[in-house]
Amino acid sequence: MIRQASLPFPLAPPLAAGSEAPPLGRRGPVAYLELAVGELLNRVTSPRLPFAWTINPYRGCEFGCPFCYARYTHDFLEPAGWRAFETRIFVKHRAPQALRRQLRRRVLQGQPIAIGTASDPYQPAEGRFRLTRELLALFLPAAGLHLSLTTRSPLVLRDLDLLTALDRRHHVEVNLSLLTVDPELARALEPRAPSPRVRLEAAARLAAAGLTVNLFCQPLLPGIHDDEAVLAPLFAAATAAGVRDLVASPLFLRSPARERFFAWLGAHRPALLPRYRQLYRNRTRLDRAASERLLAPFRRLRLAHGFPRPLAGRT
Ligand code: SF4
Repeated sequence: MIRQASLPFPLAPPLAAGSEAPPLGRRGPVAYLELAVGELLNRVTSPRLPFAWTINPYRGCEFGCPFCYARYTHDFLEPAGWRAFETRIFVKHRAPQALRRQLRRRVLQGQPIAIGTASDPYQPAEGRFRLTRELLALFLPAAGLHLSLTTRSPLVLRDLDLLTALDRRHHVEVNLSLLTVDPELARALEPRAPSPRVRLEAAARLAAAGLTVNLFCQPLLPGIHDDEAVLAPLFAAATAAGVRDLVASPLFLRSPARERFFAWLGAHRPALLPRYRQLYRNRTRLDRAASERLLAPFRRLRLAHGFPRPLAGRT
């Protein structure tokens, strides 16, 4: 039984028993399947999270980061092992119609809406289906919302025109996820995500266009991010790119991400495996002391580099 209160964001409703998702095409080993959608805006009630609503145009993510906590959402839809999360991407083909209906009914004034909490809204599927762009455009007639997008992809630059137009009516924040500037470490940790260099270039271009840009260093990984030699170049790069802030939180590890990430550790960092088994024994989060130890170097560097910067032109 999955307890909603313990999860970082709402679960999707399950597919009806025996239902076959209609196919929408393939890209190499990846199959795209249509996912029917009733409500697109998901209400968030967790006090841990800084947004009131979430939008996820896709379920599953081709980037396939081994630590990805969102894997459990896919397991719930289609319990076919962790690899299905990366190779069977559910596309909410009718998401724009669903959002239009919900926007007509709801008063969202001033409420934070986060796009891309359970899958990357600019993963390769977006190049084909353009759902994220269509959804963003639906917010143009409104005003006064706080819209945030989180991605590992420079495809977000395709929508720079739309994002700057939206930022004149709402407050828009773009969060580029980045764990390291080291291309080799990044290749191991996020094997199919774009390189740190292109993500930093995207951050710099978005910031230069006047958007609020943050770097999300999430998840912080014990044995990797407690080393200032890994973190310091990230802060230097963030400063050069003109980002507003860097945000971090420790690894959240529940099944099936747990099995996937332990397998990754065994292959790439076997010396860390016993430590992780100890730290995450019978728990999905670090205990308070371990969490504080992991966050300490990040917090020191954040302060030393003068983050967060003030929001340009805002009070
Ligand atoms: S890019 Fe984000 S959503 Fe996609 S696999 Fe990586 S962590 Fe998960």
